[in-house]
Amino acid sequence: MTTDCIFCKIIQKEIPAKIMYEDDKTLAFEDLDPKAPTHVLIIPKEHIATLNDLEPKHNELVGHMTQVAKQIAKERGIDETGYRIVTNCNADAGQAVFHIHMHLLGGRQLHWPPG
Ligand code: AMP
Ligand code: ZN
Repeated sequence: MTTDCIFCKIIQKEIPAKIMYEDDKTLAFEDLDPKAPTHVLIIPKEHIATLNDLEPKHNELVGHMTQVAKQIAKERGIDETGYRIVTNCNADAGQAVFHIHMHLLGGRQLHWPPG
């Protein structure tokens, strides 16, 4: 928990979010500024700033986040049509919130490369 982190505040329910899934290790909620019909963020409850801060002890957690993303894609009916999971790391990737998150994007044709 980091007090100045917006995603930690969402975890603590200090600021509102459209939460669609929660368990002891993860939270998933709608992105405030959706870039696709489905745009969900999956975050760990542990504050980890960037991908660079992941350690081998986090392997199970990241795997679990992927399972959560997969399940939400299925619930949204985009598992067969297709979807994308994105994690931005640092400035060149445009990371804006320094609490790691998976973007789950789908519901339309996604461009490649993302640019
Ligand atoms: P990134 O650029 O990869 O760090 O992505 C940050 C994402 O968080 C952006 O897609 C924002 O729209 C989203 N975001 C920022 N603040 C909130 C919030 N309070 N609730 C939901 N999504 C948010
Ligand atoms: Zn945080």
